[in-house]
Amino acid sequence: MKPTQKQSLVEIMRSLMRASLSRRTVLAAGGLATLTAAARAAGGFGNPDLPAEGAVNVTNPKALTDPGPQDPGLASFESAFLNPPATDVNGMPQFWASFNLVPKRIQDGGWARQITRDDFHISTTIAGVNMRLGPGGVRELHWHQQAEWSVVTYGNCRITILDQEGRPQVADVKEGDLWYFPAGLPHSLQGLDPDGTEFVLAFDNGESSEFNTLLVTDWIAHTPPDVLAKNFGVPVEAFKNIPLHNKWIYQSNQPAPSLETVEAQMAAAAGNPPHPFVFRLGEMSPSHETKSGTVRIADSSNFLVSKTIASTQVVVKPGGLREMHWHPNADEWAYFLKGTARMTVFNTGPAAMTADFHPGDIGYVKKGLGHYIENTGNTDLVFMEVFRAERFEEVLLADWLAHSPVGMVAETLNLDPSIIAQFPKNRPDIVPA
Ligand code: MN
Ligand code: MN
Repeated sequence: MKPTQKQSLVEIMRSLMRASLSRRTVLAAGGLATLTAAARAAGGFGNPDLPAEGAVNVTNPKALTDPGPQDPGLASFESAFLNPPATDVNGMPQFWASFNLVPKRIQDGGWARQITRDDFHISTTIAGVNMRLGPGGVRELHWHQQAEWSVVTYGNCRITILDQEGRPQVADVKEGDLWYFPAGLPHSLQGLDPDGTEFVLAFDNGESSEFNTLLVTDWIAHTPPDVLAKNFGVPVEAFKNIPLHNKWIYQSNQPAPSLETVEAQMAAAAGNPPHPFVFRLGEMSPSHETKSGTVRIADSSNFLVSKTIASTQVVVKPGGLREMHWHPNADEWAYFLKGTARMTVFNTGPAAMTADFHPGDIGYVKKGLGHYIENTGNTDLVFMEVFRAERFEEVLLADWLAHSPVGMVAETLNLDPSIIAQFPKNRPDIVPA
């Protein structure tokens, strides 16, 4: 290397250090500011992380305005997209979606809307469905090739199911309850008095569709009548009034019988399933609890039938943070029920992207990618984490650094060892603990 080249590299390194210092000062100040000329000049050969991103680095404020076409309502809904934190860098595939922005399919008795991989490309493991059944509204007897997990978000619902050994179950569920139907097991849903139900389903395959399920009416209508007669052991004429089109969702005109009555009607010689297909998540004591919130975990260790879906219900109080972490075993499909939140996802590159979440929104984080979820409002934040996995698993950044060689962590991050000693230990999940 010629001396002049060496000299210019040294100069680049020096201006890089000044830029980094300047950026840190700017970030600490927390407002709009301009970088020094040295920092701006630092970008270039051998310096792939620059130019720096974020409004904090803009010198002419006019560059920040958005004079082009826009819908103010939609635009202001996602302030993290409109004005990303200065720490965001390089972008990544969209991990935000919302039931608020997808069309409903409405029929007499209720409605449903869904976000499958067709609409949300990143969501390979989970397809989500939001369904409302009014009182007496019935989701027709059906089955599908995927397993179905659900959380009840409103009202009261009756589920029926038959397992692979001919053992039936009926149960009434309410807000905070879960159900899990293994792939292929036939089931029905019905909204109960006084005001029906609403719930969110997760299929364990991003390609699944609620609008494409195996319906009992369709199969009966598309089977030769003599085969029906033979199959069910009744005369052909018995089927003369069957519907020729499927019902999917319909309004029942009969009052729902008592649970005991239906249990008696469904009883089989094979007996009852050994493990319930419903789980009262809202009623269980928290798996983790700190002064900032709670986490309740339902996976195959306590919700025994739920072999392909693990889930948590997370409550974060105002000011609280679902601490920086990742999941080593599965992608996360997060569904937001109450309050407002902000999540940043971190990937190699480096890449970091931030999104805001409101009730009805979905976030999706690929396996192993770092993220946190912060309560940005004045009320409790409530969300569900859903994983296509047998067990819930997580690694927490603070826990890892608190249980690594102190000198190594101190040197890596240029921190005083006394600071590292203060990091949260023992996996609080919700901080401040
Ligand atoms: Mn189903
Ligand atoms: Mn997570």
